[in-house]
Amino acid sequence: MIEYSPITDEIRSRIVRELGDECIVSNPDEAGTYAQDASELRYTPEMVIRVEETQQIRRLMRLANEYRFPVTPRGGGSGLAGGCLPVRGGIVLSLENMNRILSVHTEDLVAEVEPGTLTKTLRDAAQSKGLFFPPDPAGMDQSTIGGNAATNAGGPSCVKYGTTKDYVLGLEVVLPSGRLIKTGTRTRKGVVGYDLTQLLVGSEGTLGIITGLILKLIPFPEAVSGTSAVFNDLPVAMGAVTKILTSGHLPSAIEFLDAKCLSLVNDLLPFKVPGEKSTLLIIELDGAPEQIRHEIDVIGKICEDVGATYLLPAPDKEERELIWEMRRQVSLRIHDNSALYIPEDVAVPLGKIPALVAELPKFEAEYGLKIYAFGHAGDGNIHLNITAQNRDNMTRVEKGVKTILSRVIQMGGTISGEHGIGEAKKRYLPMELSAESIRLQTKIKNVFDPNMVLNPGKIFPE
Ligand SMILES: Cc1cc2nc3c(=O)[nH]c(=O)nc-3n(C[C@H](O)[C@H](O)[C@H](O)COP(=O)(O)OP(=O)(O)OC[C@H]3O[C@@H](n4cnc5c(N)ncnc54)[C@H](O)[C@@H]3O)c2cc1C
Repeated sequence: MIEYSPITDEIRSRIVRELGDECIVSNPDEAGTYAQDASELRYTPEMVIRVEETQQIRRLMRLANEYRFPVTPRGGGSGLAGGCLPVRGGIVLSLENMNRILSVHTEDLVAEVEPGTLTKTLRDAAQSKGLFFPPDPAGMDQSTIGGNAATNAGGPSCVKYGTTKDYVLGLEVVLPSGRLIKTGTRTRKGVVGYDLTQLLVGSEGTLGIITGLILKLIPFPEAVSGTSAVFNDLPVAMGAVTKILTSGHLPSAIEFLDAKCLSLVNDLLPFKVPGEKSTLLIIELDGAPEQIRHEIDVIGKICEDVGATYLLPAPDKEERELIWEMRRQVSLRIHDNSALYIPEDVAVPLGKIPALVAELPKFEAEYGLKIYAFGHAGDGNIHLNITAQNRDNMTRVEKGVKTILSRVIQMGGTISGEHGIGEAKKRYLPMELSAESIRLQTKIKNVFDPNMVLNPGKIFPE
């Protein structure tokens, strides 16, 4: 393992001299908040730096190479895999103050933003000009566009609109060496050279620090409508998802919540949960008003034919917001109600969703777990929130997690659909990727970062 320099007084004074002292977060309580993200992990940084401009980052990375200390980029800290935590010590580099929307260009349908722009802020700015930035990760009021690009975040709208990578046209990036590159174009197409933009997107802050983004926007949909459907059990609900997706209709969201999740938000539901295994599907469509009115009717009929016991139309914004608020509350309440909480976000091929969810009770019984399942049913991305009543038998819990992930891979799935590997899942990487693939990827990391100063200890098992 590489030996890194601690942040000595000499390094501290070089940083102050070259970056200024305003960027150093010196209040210990405030600096302490950078030891955590939304995962259960905790690593205390030796120093937190909150920069305002790209040149400061370039200088910091030159110092990191000169003295060999680690630098870990951080956006909103809403990640669920420990990606922005300083697992090998050193400096946490917060991009949250680089948060300007530089332009929303209505003729090019392009936005240029700094990386610390909150996802919701950009979506609102685009909408105010009749434009749409579709990626909608559920933590969008906390997550930043830089973090979204670094993790290739998705959200409910993925089923129709794809993930963040589909909207990143170009990047400005400070490389680990401190050099600056621009990748991609402002155009919708561009095939000149290797696609470094897409290599950097999803690289979880290990190959470069994103300091600017050129993003594709699309026209804002004319209308949105929704419906929710309650089913007696999860496999039946998932059967309805398959039926909807093969019926020629493409909703802009198909989310599901299993019975355990519903029981946590009983007080927020506009209906009484009928049974112990009830499952809720939240379906939304967008487009021309007459078209989506017709589609909502057809999809409601499909749900009833498959076995929905209750339909709850949500044509108005207020009704839909209540449903989405309930959906948001679920993850917070799972976290607050569990002594041990492991958020897995597996994805399986669409046709395999019913088979996977049908096996969950078996895993729960065998490994003493309680699994709350919810997520993006429309793209097979199932959030398995694995919990246990206590931390007494971690070996058994970890064996359970590993068994579930193996089963997912056997089904042709992946161990992470959107949260990334970070620190939390790196030990499982070899279950999915071959040794040759890991070797190639670590060589790529080495080309970008020969001194391993940028976000070391992430993604790849050491
Ligand atoms: C309630 C809740 C709901 C969520 N729902 C979703 C969801 O629906 N879909 C989804 O995909 N995720 C979801 N997440 C996870 C999280 O919001 C995403 O992973 C998000 O993209 C992280 O953005 P961030 O700005 O908070 O990044 P951080 O947590 O700060 O960092 C995440 C990773 O990105 C790197 N990084 C951050 N900024 C930069 C930069 N400028 N340059 C280079 N690297 C950088 C970090 O080093 C780290 O590896 C959810 C989280 C919460 C708490």
